[in-house]
Amino acid sequence: SPEVKLAVFGRAGVGKSALVVRFLTKRFIWEYDPTLESTYRHQANIDDEMVSMEILDTAGQEDLLQKEGHMRWGDGFILVYDITDRGSFEEVAPLRSLLEEVKRPKHAPLVLVGNKADLEHARQVPTEEGERLAADMACAFYECSACADHVGTGGGVAEAFYELCREVRRR
Ligand code: GDP
Ligand code: MG
Repeated sequence: SPEVKLAVFGRAGVGKSALVVRFLTKRFIWEYDPTLESTYRHQANIDDEMVSMEILDTAGQEDLLQKEGHMRWGDGFILVYDITDRGSFEEVAPLRSLLEEVKRPKHAPLVLVGNKADLEHARQVPTEEGERLAADMACAFYECSACADHVGTGGGVAEAFYELCREVRRR
């Protein structure tokens, strides 16, 4: 079965590792070494087809050269911000620009994820702003929580990964 290479990008602390671990294990792990970069293999039945994924969980502290390398490697990208951290939201557009530059003339498939939707009381980024950014980037948008799968708009963490696989395989 085909292999889809997915890379998860976003500022350190937004919950990239927690999202990946939630997707792979359906569990939430509170503390995860923030400096760690890992790749995982996973298979899932998506729309009645087995899809093999390789998932790169970036540390979020890479220099430009490392970022570009990860972007060249990937077929599809999850850009993550934390709804309680406006700064992390503001880092998404520059990531997207770099991605466009690296992949030109192609447009790499991506999805936008606003994580930590369980922390509604601490929200700094309104849902509409996430929706607007996703519309600008012509991609799907999910608000979700790595620790509470029922929270958010998108049908949970897995749906973001599945939709990205679909996008990649449509190309
Ligand atoms: P990364 O640096 O982007 O990989 O972020 P981590 O996955 O290491 O998560 C950073 C911190 O945020 C950790 O303390 C996690 O427990 C916490 N965290 C991650 N996702 C969520 C979430 O959806 N909700 C809440 N409340 N905390 C989260
Ligand atoms: Mg991490």
